[in-house]
Amino acid sequence: MPDYGDLDGTIWFDGRMVPWREAKLHYLTHGLHYASVVFEGERAYDGRIFRLRDHTDRLFEGAEILGYKIPFTKDEIDQACYEVLAANGLRDGYLRPAAWRGSDKLGLSPGGASVHVAIAAWAWPSYFSPEQKMKGIRLTHAPWRRPAPDTAPTRAKASGLYQICTLSKQQAEAQGFDDALMLDYRGFVAEATGANLFLAIDGKLHTPIADCFLNGITRQTVIDLARAKGVEVIERHIQPQELAQAREAFLTGTAAEITPIAEIGEYRFTPGALCSLIIKDYHRATHAG
Ligand code: PMP
Repeated sequence: MPDYGDLDGTIWFDGRMVPWREAKLHYLTHGLHYASVVFEGERAYDGRIFRLRDHTDRLFEGAEILGYKIPFTKDEIDQACYEVLAANGLRDGYLRPAAWRGSDKLGLSPGGASVHVAIAAWAWPSYFSPEQKMKGIRLTHAPWRRPAPDTAPTRAKASGLYQICTLSKQQAEAQGFDDALMLDYRGFVAEATGANLFLAIDGKLHTPIADCFLNGITRQTVIDLARAKGVEVIERHIQPQELAQAREAFLTGTAAEITPIAEIGEYRFTPGALCSLIIKDYHRATHAG
């Protein structure tokens, strides 16, 4: 694992390109103490950032939900994403834009605090070949649940919401698993710690309604791709014991792309035709144009 603060490269920071190691914040940054951070995870394929404007829209919407305004236009942020890619000599890679409240106001009442934005990009290939991927990853059950929409700003990709994800992921890995399945506050199946879930039951895809967790951009893409192929997609509340009916299961996310699952706790899956179809179509969609 690299130290992400100690890499060569260039980061876009409040409108300027700065050397990677100089992209620093003050200790009393509001975002660090009170989680006033929204961020994105994007991928570039062959020089094109997949669904960039949708990511930028989500970043701006998240900032609005947290009560602040990003001091750039969406066009400026989109352009900056491409500039960061170019500055780091990347055509394929992962981008991490983030916005946060600065150090000029530290307290629960952040009115008037400055808002900062930065974008980093680095190479992050898919670690597994398609054949390896088809073996599937192993999930356990998470000890934490996704909160209700009136308990946390669940539509925002906000750093505060990731505390329960990092705790769940850390525990899963400590027990030898790859990831963990989180239920929601009602006890329905929700998602993994950083990716959405699909189940193949009787040749149809079932996925939880994204009413208290991120409606992933990859999730939305997969729903469209499956329907375009005539595969029925059903968004509904799913009880954990219904996992027993699923033949196949996979995760979707910008970083995870399409990742087949071999097990979730006591349930077993065999990645097959639907996983392969979605992997292929997602590859085609991300590499088109
Ligand atoms: N859920 C969580 C908690 C995530 O962090 C992510 C990754 N951003 C997703 C779902 C998938 O979202 P997307 O497909 O937009 O990357």
